[in-house]
Amino acid sequence: MSRHVIVVHGGAGGFSKRDEKYLEILSEATAKGFNIIERGGSALDAVVEAVVVLENSGKFNAGLGSCLTLDGIVEMDAGVMDGSTGRVGCVGAVRCVKNPIILARKVMELTDHILLVGEGAEMLAKCLGLNIDPSLLLTEEKLSRLSDIKEKIRKQGSLRLKKLDKIREVCPDLYGTVGAVALDRAGNLATATSTGGYWLKLRGRVGDTPIIGAGIYADKTSAASATGMGEVIMKTLLCFRVCQFIEWGVSPQKAAEAGISIATKRYGSGNAGVIVVDRNGDIGIAFNTRGMAIAYMYEGMDRPIAEIRIREDI
Ligand code: ASP
Repeated sequence: MSRHVIVVHGGAGGFSKRDEKYLEILSEATAKGFNIIERGGSALDAVVEAVVVLENSGKFNAGLGSCLTLDGIVEMDAGVMDGSTGRVGCVGAVRCVKNPIILARKVMELTDHILLVGEGAEMLAKCLGLNIDPSLLLTEEKLSRLSDIKEKIRKQGSLRLKKLDKIREVCPDLYGTVGAVALDRAGNLATATSTGGYWLKLRGRVGDTPIIGAGIYADKTSAASATGMGEVIMKTLLCFRVCQFIEWGVSPQKAAEAGISIATKRYGSGNAGVIVVDRNGDIGIAFNTRGMAIAYMYEGMDRPIAEIRIREDI
């Protein structure tokens, strides 16, 4: 028997217990999505609405809270997939949009395409009234964080184009992407993910989030959302891999662990996390970073459980 459920994440990275301040907002997003499915709404609506709450919070690396590129601008990626119909919509490197996940849904619903990037995606946002002044995404706090990170890296050597290992050292809370997966009462599965990428990425870089099979995947059997270093997630095709294990009969938790362990074996630890739900409402959560912020709510629970999960072995 299946039970409806939503699982939400706020990124995998250097989280510690003191980051519990993020849990309130994760709970709010989870409750909002869960209420939609509880009232008979679709998994698709639930995951998009949950992600919108997180994009608007300014607390995560998505929407208003998105991090800055090396040259100090915001470029965001987002993707959404409806498992029951196989429809999918994604946007990459969008700069003047408040809610990239809503724009991704519009790409799915209003166009023949799957992925729109940069200026073209922004033109669609403008036509739909979803655009904002990009300077609203640039806060004093972000600009000073950018110069702090650059300064720390410079102290350890020069600021080169290939700098990921250094960024991970000086900025362990590198990630903070948001995502949600859900199963509704009618048995439909959906996934949505939204991100600002990571600090100091080059302008024009697109990560895993809007790439089907990498940062998002959903079909009639399961739905997954990934977070972590996009380059690793794309090379691992993490979400598709996890969903395929489930199709082959592996439990969601074991499938999530197997996907992450493949990423770890090939590319080391500290770079990926994934959440997944199957058509029975069973969930899986796994990561190879120090911590991951997650929340979930099942049929029968009166409030979400939100927690920072920590791996003591990393
Ligand atoms: N996966 C995102 C990216 O590489 C970053 C993250 O998950 O925090 O764009």
